Amino acid sequence: MNIILLGPPGSGKGTQGEYLEKSLNIKRISTGDILRNEIEAGSEIGKTVQDIISKGYLVSDEIIMEIIGSNLVLEEYVNGFILDGFPRNLDQAKLLEALLEKLNKKISLVLFFAISDQVLIERICNRYYCAKCGASYNKIFKLPIVSDQCDVCGSKDFKVREDDNIESVSSRMQQYRAKTEPLALYYQNKDILRSINSDQAVDKISKDIEILVKNG
Ligand code: AMP
Repeated sequence: MNIILLGPPGSGKGTQGEYLEKSLNIKRISTGDILRNEIEAGSEIGKTVQDIISKGYLVSDEIIMEIIGSNLVLEEYVNGFILDGFPRNLDQAKLLEALLEKLNKKISLVLFFAISDQVLIERICNRYYCAKCGASYNKIFKLPIVSDQCDVCGSKDFKVREDDNIESVSSRMQQYRAKTEPLALYYQNKDILRSINSDQAVDKISKDIEILVKNG
């Protein structure tokens, strides 16, 4: 199955993406995670995007398509993939379609995370992640099972995203409303969009997704 996770920052794409990776045994490609790794590694791409990301703007389509193009051809995605944070505008959606056609693949399902502004802000203000493996947590909704220890890799080193501050979040929301949200209609017209009520508890969202994925 080839899945796109579509929704505003903080709507639960990362958490549910990690859940889907395990339940469907297919891998996730998070453009945000890849870019953060590039920044961490101090690479050329990292240096180019650091300021753009910290201000909450979108990175160029050129850089993003290079990342997507070089990942989608990898062996680990032959049985499917979950795209998290991509596409983020109509041009990226069309470039993805052209790329997939070349690879003889198709998007099977777009999961749209519908969430109210109040829940969204609460999620973003309380989220953090494992500095070693990137697993995501939330001080209110999703604490590690063993206190201060990552469930996935056992690391005790956690971080808060640099762009999870009020200025950057409001700029990311503006970018989302103007450029990304219109993609919901684009995929709805292709009849592959399914909406999830992301105001609900994490487990309930996972259950709803499970049903949607089963029904295709
Ligand atoms: P995310 O982790 O998906 O919220 O992404 C963090 C930041 O990385 C975004 O605010 C953008 O600056 C950048 N980014 C991630 N994915 C994309 C994309 N598909 N197109 C443009 N910029 C992106």
